[in-house]
Amino acid sequence: MRGTMMNFPLTLPTILERSGKIFPRVEIVSRKPDKSVVRTCYGEFYNRARCLSSALLRLGLKPGDRVASMMWNHSSHLEAFFGVPCAGGILHTLNLRLHPQEIATIAKHAGDRFLLVDDVLYPVYEKFRQDVSFERVIVAPYGCNTIPEGSLNYEDLLANSDADFRYPAIDENDGAAMCFTSGTTGFSKGVIYSHRAIVLHSFCCGLVEVFGMNEADTILPVAPMFHANAWGIPFAATMLGARLVLPGPHVDPESILELMVRERVTVACGVPTVWIAVLDALEKNPTKWKFGNPIRVVCGGTAPPLELMRRLDRFGLHIKHLWGMTETTPIGTSGGLRAHMRDWPEDKKYDTRAKQGWPAPFVEIRLMRPEGEAPWDGVTSGEIEIRGPWIAASYYESPDQAHRWTEDGWFRTGDVATMDEDGYVKIVDRAKDLVKSGGEWISSVDLENTLMGHPAVKEACVVGIPHPKWQERPLAAVVLKDGAQATPDELRAFLAKSFAKWQLPDAFVFLDAIPRTSVGKFKKTALREQFANWKWEL
Ligand code: AMP
Repeated sequence: MRGTMMNFPLTLPTILERSGKIFPRVEIVSRKPDKSVVRTCYGEFYNRARCLSSALLRLGLKPGDRVASMMWNHSSHLEAFFGVPCAGGILHTLNLRLHPQEIATIAKHAGDRFLLVDDVLYPVYEKFRQDVSFERVIVAPYGCNTIPEGSLNYEDLLANSDADFRYPAIDENDGAAMCFTSGTTGFSKGVIYSHRAIVLHSFCCGLVEVFGMNEADTILPVAPMFHANAWGIPFAATMLGARLVLPGPHVDPESILELMVRERVTVACGVPTVWIAVLDALEKNPTKWKFGNPIRVVCGGTAPPLELMRRLDRFGLHIKHLWGMTETTPIGTSGGLRAHMRDWPEDKKYDTRAKQGWPAPFVEIRLMRPEGEAPWDGVTSGEIEIRGPWIAASYYESPDQAHRWTEDGWFRTGDVATMDEDGYVKIVDRAKDLVKSGGEWISSVDLENTLMGHPAVKEACVVGIPHPKWQERPLAAVVLKDGAQATPDELRAFLAKSFAKWQLPDAFVFLDAIPRTSVGKFKKTALREQFANWKWEL
């Protein structure tokens, strides 16, 4: 017998309608390029997002059309997260930090029909405009307020749009948003998030062990809205009525701290490199920033070093660890401590918090090895395979990538991890980042995290470099704190307390900065290239 419930579609217009009716006065704060702040609210956002939908339909948007955005984190971009999908289109957030040629290739592959671009980012578009053919370019006045000839003014478009707009029919499995993977291995691949996946993922963001997002929160998404479905934040915040503080282009530590204090942020989200820089600023000037409340720092993208967690805790900034991917909308696992761990010794608690957490509801994970599934014993590692309602079932028009899915429908993540009996996942490495030394595997992640616990070390990144005898050996690139000193021997001795001798890096190089990817992660490929011909002492 079937249940007697309604078959109600899980689509974004329902979330948009709710925000306009239930949270009209909740504030949305956006910072502009000149650092001034604009305050609006969900009531206004609701009207404007609907006007955008109506304007796009007037321009001829058809169901499933891709609308690209090249925008910073601010309220007009938020409007696009709803205005495009609620008109039946798919918002494709372009990664504006990529090389212009790469942006063009991705936009062409995605078949983007329209472009929404910030006025201040128009010069980036000009660098690749000859390679793309957007039918319409809509420019949002955000910084310089110059609308180049031949393009449409976003504000005029909204002002002249139809008031009695009706949502088109949308199936919950229709695409709503699109992102490309960061393409660290080969060409980036497109993922299309369905309305259903986004709605279910938004519920997940409200869970205490994930963002714990609710109406009492003020959320600061530092991670760019073009990264991994904007971490789901625009959708979840709108559904749950959380106040948003959108930082615009300024994500240096001082600018972040200023917003956190002034706007009384309760949840801040970004990759570990952001928080390493913020911690540095706090420790240099410990009395300058006074937070009125504890802050949940939602951190993912790479593993936050344990020492970062410990030291941020002292300032009332508490890291909440997430693991996920562009392909997983992005939340896969999230962590924290379980009830039975409350009385554990401090060090054991930190070890547990440094793990990536346990799978979100409806996300299933298994660890695969050539000989079969790895046991959840906290020791045996295997590649994470994952499935669930917000996990990609394929890439957009990339049939050559079918091998990333198993025959029984699990996605092969390429991440290698262990799991313990409580279901906590611990990422050991990306399969491709493990150092292969003489047939043994060395985890670069563990070495990095331990190195970043050394008092003189600000940042550390470990990569495998070809070695004539051992196939590969680990090289550690280290950035020291201002004025601090450390020699390779000291660092090796420090690591030797936790690692076997054969696992220790044979080379240490001291750099001013570690190269970053477009979303702020350490760029291991650049380091591997830079030191590919390292002369090992044999
Ligand atoms: P992206 O699609 O750019 O978000 O990259 C996804 C990849 O980032 C994952 O496959 C992991 O290798 C890595 N990653 C994401 N979150 C974490 C985390 N909390 N700890 C370690 N690695 C992570």
